[in-house]
Amino acid sequence: MPAPPISKLETIHTVEWMKQCSRAARAEGRIIGFVPTMGALHDGHLSLVRAAREKSDMVVVSIFVNPKQFGPSEDLTTYPRSSEKDKSLIETAGVQTLFAPGPTEIYPGDFCTYVNVEGLSERLEGRSRPGHFRGVATIVWKLLQIVQPNIALFGRKDAQQARIIRQMARDLNLDTEILVCPIVRESDGLAMSSRNLYLKPAERRAATVLYRALDAVRIEIGKGERDAQRLQVLMRKILDAEPLATIDYAEIVDADSFEPVTQLRRACFALLAVFIGATRLIDNLSIDRAVSPESSGELGCSL
Ligand code: AMP
Repeated sequence: MPAPPISKLETIHTVEWMKQCSRAARAEGRIIGFVPTMGALHDGHLSLVRAAREKSDMVVVSIFVNPKQFGPSEDLTTYPRSSEKDKSLIETAGVQTLFAPGPTEIYPGDFCTYVNVEGLSERLEGRSRPGHFRGVATIVWKLLQIVQPNIALFGRKDAQQARIIRQMARDLNLDTEILVCPIVRESDGLAMSSRNLYLKPAERRAATVLYRALDAVRIEIGKGERDAQRLQVLMRKILDAEPLATIDYAEIVDADSFEPVTQLRRACFALLAVFIGATRLIDNLSIDRAVSPESSGELGCSL
């Protein structure tokens, strides 16, 4: 059978035109699914596109390297950019609209309004990257206003970010359903990330230590371990054994508050931020009550 025709991708650079296209689509009763990204696309991003296609009839992907979420000593200028390859990837994936505004289109010179999700934004990633989540919440709020999607999709790879966006959507009565999708990994377990492109060959091999540490926690939980402290010690031991790895944090936190837990009783995350050489990588294990009827509410883990 011949492959279905690929619809032509329209690239939009201005806020005004994006708003008009979204308004027209919604007036026609079309369901808009939206995937915000910073580009340098990989299969993790494309998994969000596939999920969006299943749930909507028009998929909008944005590519915007958001300066407001980078700290002064972070990698804004060197962040990987591959716009032609990105375009062809999303066109092949069946995306109709790419929103790719320039920085001044989003942040004109007199820009001074920010969204801040208090509390949640100060812990973990927020402590290591001050101002990061203010930048994230602000850009996501703006993009949701511009694209007006029915559904917006985010990856659980950035678990704290997803939690903060859900909180913002609830607190500010946003009209968009927030969906969080599973982590896509390389065959050796490394979570896909645009920043993996920074890794030199030896670092790329060492980077699997994040997965190995989380997988060890998963195995111990399967054997019945419920003491968060012991599981944290285990993660640290595995990470410390890798000479190229420097731990930023390795914690087990409540999935709702992102506060540390002592016992695994409710849904929680094992969260890692680790430098491999100069590259900072994050990953997590989701620990939750299994939902199947035969599991009798036992804890299950998803990597
Ligand atoms: P980024 O381009 O890094 O800002 O990511 C854009 C979206 O893709 C965010 O919602 C991320 O959580 C998601 N994402 C990034 N990496 C992965 C991955 N390996 N698996 C699933 N989602 C991902």
